[in-house]
Amino acid sequence: NADAAMYRAKELGKNNCQFYAHEMNATLEEKLALMDGLRKAVGAGQLRLVYQPKVDLETGRVFGVEALVRWQHPERGLVRPDVFIPLAEESGTIVAIGEWVLREACRQARRWQEDGLAPISVSVNVSPRQFDDRRLVTRVSEALAESGLDARWLELEVTESLIMRDVQQAVDKMRELEAMGIALSIDDFGTGYSSLAALKSFPISRLKIDKSFVRDLAHSADDQAIARAIISLSHQLQMRVIAEGVETEQQRAFLAQYGCDEMQGYLFSKPVPADDIGTMLARRPLAA
Ligand code: C2E
Ligand code: MG
Ligand code: MG
Ligand code: MG
Repeated sequence: NADAAMYRAKELGKNNCQFYAHEMNATLEEKLALMDGLRKAVGAGQLRLVYQPKVDLETGRVFGVEALVRWQHPERGLVRPDVFIPLAEESGTIVAIGEWVLREACRQARRWQEDGLAPISVSVNVSPRQFDDRRLVTRVSEALAESGLDARWLELEVTESLIMRDVQQAVDKMRELEAMGIALSIDDFGTGYSSLAALKSFPISRLKIDKSFVRDLAHSADDQAIARAIISLSHQLQMRVIAEGVETEQQRAFLAQYGCDEMQGYLFSKPVPADDIGTMLARRPLAA
């Protein structure tokens, strides 16, 4: 990125100004090209959704999935959201992408039900610019109406930093969504700056323990303390708590031992196409 390029250029000294300028341009050019491509991606049908199961730690049941967007770029192949979501957020394209994700996720959740599978909830990530958009609530109700999905099966994931920017505004909007019957959760919990006092005023039903605290859970006493504190905080506030990024049996065992309700991670399944979720749900009675 630009900072790294600048650092390298400084290290190399003044003679390398040219190199520095060149690298900056390449980065900017690439960024603009990606932004331009993104603007067309929705209309060109280049976006895909994959779904990652969320599992109840007590019963082993898949009770929901998280929808995660992918960009099938014509030349670059599959582009990860960590690369393009920040660009889409910066350019504003995130609003159109977010609307597509919302409609597609609701449509798919309804389709699983129509296929005769037991209903599960589907969660969708909402970014700051999308949250601020005054049409968000309308878009959400349209996605529900158009798909025929009952609001109780839709969950929106927001981050701490998003809701802490303007607490009152966030509370108002979240109350509106809650009144429609939609569940709200806080993603990547523990990585932002939450005011604990403010936290209790949000209509949140679930905290998601960020995967950075889960990664070294088997060995790090600090991460164990943090995970236990978040589990305890969630329960004190009458919320469910889910751990993301669970990859090993030791991590699962630790979380289960300390009363974490749910998990999500490669240990159970990576994010997969909708059909694979259908297959998974169809054989669910065996797993429970
Ligand atoms: P997130 O919402 O926190 O999603 C969890 C990320 O962790 C996903 O990455 C998922 O694939 C990954 N993950 C799941 N289990 C494991 C595991 O066991 N180990 C590890 N190392 N990783 C795991 P992904 O799909 O690349 O998405 C990255 C981020 O991009 C998401 O983080 C979310 O912030 C954003 N994002 C994805 N889809 C959307 C979307 O439709 N809208 C918006 N606004 N943001 C999205
Ligand atoms: Mg998420
Ligand atoms: Mg997360
Ligand atoms: Mg994350």
